[in-house]
Amino acid sequence: SVYFNVIIWYIFLFEKVLGFFPPSVEEISKDGKSWLVCTSCLPFCTCICLLSALHVLHFLPLPGSEIAVYEGDILLRRGRRSAINCDSCLWPKSQDGLVKISPGPLLFLAITERSWIADALQEISTLTCVQFVNRTTETDYVYVERGCWSYFGKIGGRQAVGLVKNGCMDKGAIQHEMNHALGFIHEQARSDRDRFVKIMWEHIVAGNFGKMNSKNLGLPYDYSSVMHYGAYDFSSTPGKPTIVPVPDPSIPIGQRDGLSNLDVAKINKLYKCNCCSSVLPKPKGSFSSVNYPSPYPNNSNCLWLIRIRRSKIFLQFEAFDLQRSSDCSSDYIKIYNGNSKSSPVLLDKYCGKGPLPSLVASGSTMLVEFASDESITATGFRASYNRGFNLKTQRYLAVRNICIPIDVHNSLHKQVLP
Ligand SMILES: [Zn+2]
Repeated sequence: SVYFNVIIWYIFLFEKVLGFFPPSVEEISKDGKSWLVCTSCLPFCTCICLLSALHVLHFLPLPGSEIAVYEGDILLRRGRRSAINCDSCLWPKSQDGLVKISPGPLLFLAITERSWIADALQEISTLTCVQFVNRTTETDYVYVERGCWSYFGKIGGRQAVGLVKNGCMDKGAIQHEMNHALGFIHEQARSDRDRFVKIMWEHIVAGNFGKMNSKNLGLPYDYSSVMHYGAYDFSSTPGKPTIVPVPDPSIPIGQRDGLSNLDVAKINKLYKCNCCSSVLPKPKGSFSSVNYPSPYPNNSNCLWLIRIRRSKIFLQFEAFDLQRSSDCSSDYIKIYNGNSKSSPVLLDKYCGKGPLPSLVASGSTMLVEFASDESITATGFRASYNRGFNLKTQRYLAVRNICIPIDVHNSLHKQVLP
C-alpha cells in the first residue's frame, strides 16, 4: 500500500503540474485560504485527493508521529536507532534505587490475559531492579494494548506496548516486548552478531535483519535470549532458516520460555541494579552459595529462579551450613513455590546446620532466596534440582504440595505446615 500511495501521489503531481487531466483540479481562494476543489472527473479526483492526503499524513515528519516499524515489532522514532546507546531512552531510577514502571490499567483484558502479563512482568521485577507498579502520578508510563509490538526505550508520556495477541502470550514473548521498552534490541541485531550467527539473506523477507551500533554492556552474545529471533522467523521460503548459529548450527535459538540468565544480567547492568540473581533454565542442575565451600560474604542477598518446561521441580540440598540465629533472622534460605517473593512459601527462613531440606514445587518455577547479615558467616550451601523422583527423594510427606522428607520436617525452623 505504501508503493500504491507513492504512485497515486506522483499521478497527482503529474496531473497538477502538467495539467494532464485539465480541468480536473483548480485552486480557488476562499477567505484568504487556498482550497483544492475537484470540479470534474469528481469520483476519480476525490479518490486521488483522499489518497494523496493520506500519503502526506503518512510520510511527512509531523511532531509526535515520527514513527516507523522496524524488525517486525519495534516502533522507532527518528534518530533513535542507536540501540541501547541512548541514556535518555532509559527509565529513571527512584531514590530507593528501583526503576519503577507503571503498566497502566489492564482492565480491558480477560482475567487469564492479565495473569499471564502479571506473571511475565513479575519475573522481571523479581530478578532485576525494574519494578512494575500501579500508576499514580507518573507522567512517563507504559500502557498495555492488544498486539505484539513495542517502542524502543522510553519515549516519554503515555507509551503503548502491545502484549496481548496470539503468539504474544508466552511469558518470554511478553518479556521480549517489555525488554524493547526497557531499551533492548534484538540479540541478532548486535554489532558483533556476525561472529555468532550467519544471516541467510537469500531466505529473508527484506528489512528485518539489520545490524545496529549497539552497546553490548561487556556481556556475551546470548543464543538463549528472549530477544533472539528463531531460526525460521521471517523466512520467505518454507523450511529454510533465516538465521544459522556458527560454527554450531544446532544451537537452539528463539526460546520464549522466559528471561535467560544473560537477559537478567543485561537488565541489571544497563540499569545499574545491585542485584544478585540467576536463572536456572535447564532440566537439572546444581547451584551453591557464593564462594562455596569457602564462607559466604556478609550482607549478601541472592536469588536463584529455577524454571523447567512443563514439569515439577524437585530440589535437594547436599550441604547446608548457615549462621544459626533465633527465627533465622540473621542468615537464611527461603524458598517460594513460584517465580516471585509473593508466591506461596515452600520453606520459610531456614538456617543452622540442620537436616538437609528437600522440596518439590507444584509448578514449573521455584525461587530460592539466600540472605546474610553484617556479621558471622559459614560455609553456606550446595543444592541440586531435577524434574523427577529418584531413590533418595522418594520418602516424602506431601502436604498441600509441600513435600518435606519425613525425618526432617519436625526440626525445620519456622516451617510452614498446617
Ligand atoms: Zn522484538
